Amino acid sequence: MWKKGIFIILIGAAIAAAYFFTQKSRLASERELAIQDSLAALAAIPEPTLLYGIPIDSFDVYEGKVKWGQSLSNILSEFDVSNEDIYELANKAKGVFDVRLLKAGYPFTIIHERDSSKKARQMIFEPDPTQFVVFNLADTIFAENVKREVITEEKTFVATIEEGSSVSQTIADAGGSILLENRIVEIFAWQVSFVHIQVGDEFKVIYEEQRVGDKVVGIGEITGAYFKHWGKEYYAVHYEQGGDSDYFDEDGNSLRKTFLKDPLSYKRISSSYSPRRFHPVQKRYKAHLGTDYAANPGTPIWSVGEGVVLEATYGKYNGNYVKIRHNSNYTTQYLHMQSIKRGIRPGTTVEQGQVIGYVGSTGLATGPHLCFRFWKNGRQVDSQRVELPPSEPIDPSKLNDYLHTKNVVMNKLMHLESKQPEKKAVLAQIPLNQH
Ligand SMILES: [Zn+2]
Repeated sequence: MWKKGIFIILIGAAIAAAYFFTQKSRLASERELAIQDSLAALAAIPEPTLLYGIPIDSFDVYEGKVKWGQSLSNILSEFDVSNEDIYELANKAKGVFDVRLLKAGYPFTIIHERDSSKKARQMIFEPDPTQFVVFNLADTIFAENVKREVITEEKTFVATIEEGSSVSQTIADAGGSILLENRIVEIFAWQVSFVHIQVGDEFKVIYEEQRVGDKVVGIGEITGAYFKHWGKEYYAVHYEQGGDSDYFDEDGNSLRKTFLKDPLSYKRISSSYSPRRFHPVQKRYKAHLGTDYAANPGTPIWSVGEGVVLEATYGKYNGNYVKIRHNSNYTTQYLHMQSIKRGIRPGTTVEQGQVIGYVGSTGLATGPHLCFRFWKNGRQVDSQRVELPPSEPIDPSKLNDYLHTKNVVMNKLMHLESKQPEKKAVLAQIPLNQH
């Protein structure tokens, strides 16, 4: 009998428990519904529109460029900012943004009141894509430089020169920028003449791309580069020693070569490079864009670096002269020679220190001397003052470390394959992690 009683109690407890749990779950689902309702309500509130992180929905935005003769105060006074406030702002801007940068054409943004006063609340400048400067005039006056996050990512680049395509075209087709092209040309400038690029020449580059959001803003270090020219392979490995950043080959030699300081053994420098001097023969002032070395007639003249002869001929003023192109950056010229050395003619390859001719006084010259002219990036410069690239090899104490770096970089470069497609585009930009 008591068993039946217990059974009834158990049934009752089960019913109570069942009721309790259904109630609880009903409450839970009610609560969920309530949360969903409030979320929907939140979603209905539009996100504020931000410009340079400033909400602008209640204001108007003016985007302009500094006009000729316009100053910061000119601009701001058009947006109802008092002279006192402009003065205070200019003071606060010191050390944050140099207002002298505001020359004609410089872009700016003003966030101003929507009413007829058009009173400026903020003025914003963007010196470059990695940062912007806010001049705040609403409430408190202050100037602030906001740095955007620059993301650096390792990228690789592979391209092969096609029939009828230039280096620029090839790099552009492969999605590379002019910045990347300039860097590649600079790195290999001493090894390769990019004027004589061939179909089938190949580039491989590992580099750092700098981005702000999705926008590419620059190129960081080029970690390593490979260039195949006329079937010959060149490697460039980036390495820093003694605070200097440079590129080295497989053996740790700098890719850059230096020039001889002077192209001959001379008695004295009879006339230095000068934008203006009195010409001893022409008896008038004119620029002397070279260095004159007085020397005995017949003294051998050396090429200051390896290169290719561009000109070897006679000119009325220059006399017998030779012009040599060393790479895409440097060209030198040697004037008034008694004679040009046999075999030196346009297209001849010369080594550093190779004799190219002999001191004389041909052309417009008062006495035996060598007039030496030097071009850097197409402009004549003073060879005695130009800063020439150092070409120190890897320091012996750093050699093991360098060799380790080199092995890692060269291994990566060797495994970068250009996609060999059916059609024209042999160009691909592929992330490293695909390998
Ligand atoms: Zn001269």
